[in-house]
Amino acid sequence: MNLNINDLPIQKLHSLSKNGIETSILRLDLVHPIISGNKWFKLKYYIEEAIKYKKQGIASFGGAYSNHIVALAFACNQKGLKSVGFIRGEKPKQLSPTLIAAVSFGMKLHFISREMYRNKNNLINEYNIPNWLLVNEGGYGLLGAEGAATITELFQQNNFSTILCSVGTGTMIAGIIKRADEHQQIIGISALKNNFSIQNEINALLTETDKKINYLINHDYHFGGYAKYTDVLINFMNNIWITENLPTDIVYTGKLLFATTELININYFKPKSHLLIIHSGGLQGNSSLSNGQLLF
Ligand SMILES: *Cc1c(COP(=O)(O)O)cnc(C)c1O
Repeated sequence: MNLNINDLPIQKLHSLSKNGIETSILRLDLVHPIISGNKWFKLKYYIEEAIKYKKQGIASFGGAYSNHIVALAFACNQKGLKSVGFIRGEKPKQLSPTLIAAVSFGMKLHFISREMYRNKNNLINEYNIPNWLLVNEGGYGLLGAEGAATITELFQQNNFSTILCSVGTGTMIAGIIKRADEHQQIIGISALKNNFSIQNEINALLTETDKKINYLINHDYHFGGYAKYTDVLINFMNNIWITENLPTDIVYTGKLLFATTELININYFKPKSHLLIIHSGGLQGNSSLSNGQLLF
């Protein structure tokens, strides 16, 4: 199975190019149907690290629909590393499509209670996994941010005044900020509700020079919280599929596109702005929906 990394299109969004604004989207979702675009980039230096230090494999954490878990399973499988996923919650009668995919890539799953999940360090002793590289949930960390920074090699910085992306752990946006030009604005749309401490978590990945970049996190488009959604969001996602032939997901990119559309409609951006939206992938997250809600 191959990943399509070098040939990712930047698609102009006609319905979002108005009020003197031009809007395009970088299609990281086309990296792979299951391996979420940004997760692949965030993992690449962790994989190198595991190989360099001759680790047996990589262990990490996530929920039953985690894009990070399935991307990790795939990446380790490709590089001949073992992988372990600590999954939050009881083992369900039927595994989610995400976890079925992770197992098919050779990942060993351990289901752990929410309480144990909070004490991640105990797990490492309990499951006796020395000589494993442990990666934070979502790939959060400096190596993750450096990997995400390489996303910027896929476009010409000076073509865009504003870059917008979704924010979960903040690792991807930290990487984008690291490579941004001083004239650019970077806007992150938080996928979590009232997650104001994200600011500190992002800053922890930035140098003093990085922090001079003009960036902000918007907290207005969580639609009730992480992985929550409403009919309004689903209708919007169906609409953007019909008008732009653009698939989005309910956790991250649907909310990102919704936010961008609304900000354009209220003239938030200066005329002549050139926006680049990062489509970070995550379409496999839609597998938690019942059939028929989405047109794609
Ligand atoms: C994980 C994920 C994000 C969030 O990235 P962070 O680096 O955790 O902020 C955004 N979009 C998609 C599709 C993801 O899978």
